[in-house]
Amino acid sequence: MKACLLRTPARIEENPIEYGEVAEPKPGNGDVLVRVEVCGVCRTDLHVVEGELPPKKSPVIPGHQVVGVVEQAGAGATRFSKGARVGIAWLHKVDGTCEYCRRGEENLCDAPLFTGYTVDGGYAEWIVAPETFVYPIPEGLPNEHAAPLLCAGIIGYRCLRMAQVARGAKLGFYGFGAAAHIAIQVANHWGVEVYAATRDARHQKLALELGAKWAGTTMDAPPAKLDASIVFAPAGEIVPEALKALRKGGRLILGGIHMSAIPSFAYDLLYQERMIRSVANNTRRDGEEFLALAAEIPIRTRIQVYPLSDANRALNALKNDAIPGAAVLRVQT
Ligand SMILES: [Zn+2]
Ligand SMILES: [Zn+2]
Repeated sequence: MKACLLRTPARIEENPIEYGEVAEPKPGNGDVLVRVEVCGVCRTDLHVVEGELPPKKSPVIPGHQVVGVVEQAGAGATRFSKGARVGIAWLHKVDGTCEYCRRGEENLCDAPLFTGYTVDGGYAEWIVAPETFVYPIPEGLPNEHAAPLLCAGIIGYRCLRMAQVARGAKLGFYGFGAAAHIAIQVANHWGVEVYAATRDARHQKLALELGAKWAGTTMDAPPAKLDASIVFAPAGEIVPEALKALRKGGRLILGGIHMSAIPSFAYDLLYQERMIRSVANNTRRDGEEFLALAAEIPIRTRIQVYPLSDANRALNALKNDAIPGAAVLRVQT
């Protein structure tokens, strides 16, 4: 099959992803084999490709926002019939036995496997995954538009839940890429006002188009004190700025898997019961709840489609803030 392979992490400007021919995967016990239609491009893919996340498998096929069609079920797999439209996300599998899994916090599992990082992902024509970690894709969401929901969408949803915002609340977004452009649609649906701080003027424009109350740069003070904020951008220097904009008791949620170092800051910025919390991965329940909500709202993603062979170009564009919304790779048939 055709696939994108990363052998050694390198700066994306060096175009380290090789497009070529590899063996098709075979479904094991409890797995399904899925024919990939599209795979979303996530900032985490960039962290994998550039080695900001330590390499776990080499070579590896990146990609963890897969929409495709079930072709074959492995032994014991009975959940999906052939032809079912499904999604495959970041969480490939958990052990189910560690203290976190037993507490219902499988996103914090001690021995997780991740799609497109510790196991091969969806920048390929075929992928296998355990059927219990595969999502049915609701009708009414076209493939290309559904792909970014599987990580950008689900993680954004978990961030929104952690922000604990009620109708009428004021919520800051720092960075306005794929995750934020979906999360704002959920926030609007909940009656929450969004204040978007992002360095790129095109992203500020998109935020306003999608209903943000205000858009400015990450160093501008929003016009109101915020009840909560979510930092989507992987830049630690945003954290003190975001704290300055929070009301007393406000919550700051850090949505990224990787962030540059957070500079030291005066305790006053945190005092008065402000909170900082990171978000790690997601549970399957987050994914199921969010996909149902996405179909109900319905969420419309802004996408830029590239052929599968152009993964390097898509990731370069992502790094340069040149994607309004989300990038999606389409498998050419
Ligand atoms: Zn576990
Ligand atoms: Zn992701």
